[in-house]
Amino acid sequence: MYPIYHVKVRWSERYPPETAAHNMRASELPAGRFWNGSSWDTMEREETDVVERLLRDWWPEYSKKLLEPADLTLIVELRCRDTWCSGWFSHWTFDTGQSDQEVLDSFREYVDRIQYSDRPEDEIGSLLMGAEDEWRWHGGERTEAPCRCPVCKERGVVRIDH
Ligand SMILES: [Zn+2]
Repeated sequence: MYPIYHVKVRWSERYPPETAAHNMRASELPAGRFWNGSSWDTMEREETDVVERLLRDWWPEYSKKLLEPADLTLIVELRCRDTWCSGWFSHWTFDTGQSDQEVLDSFREYVDRIQYSDRPEDEIGSLLMGAEDEWRWHGGERTEAPCRCPVCKERGVVRIDH
């Protein structure tokens, strides 16, 4: 089981001058600026200072494409410990040398465990995103699950999309 963190990021940025929206005023912000943000789950091999790493590696690179980014808030919470991390209609786990069969068995066990847990229904829905239907499982480019493409290999993960 690996620690899974929920990341919530919020920042303000300037509207591009060519958009009509730049005259709108967001609360607490000077005219021409708006709030933007994102959230996702991330799984780590061991407990990690995720905030520190995001500030060091992710934000400087990501914020380059934003206009005058400011007011950054980063909230990271340890959500749970598990073997699979959910993304957008996709799950992944670390490649520890499992066979395809072992990966599929592990994912089936994960899906069942989440599906029949006592979590609220909307949380189960957002964690599984359709993974409860095994016929949806596939790798990248509609290959057979699990995905072991070069991108997954480089990240040291195996992935199941659905
Ligand atoms: Zn892949």
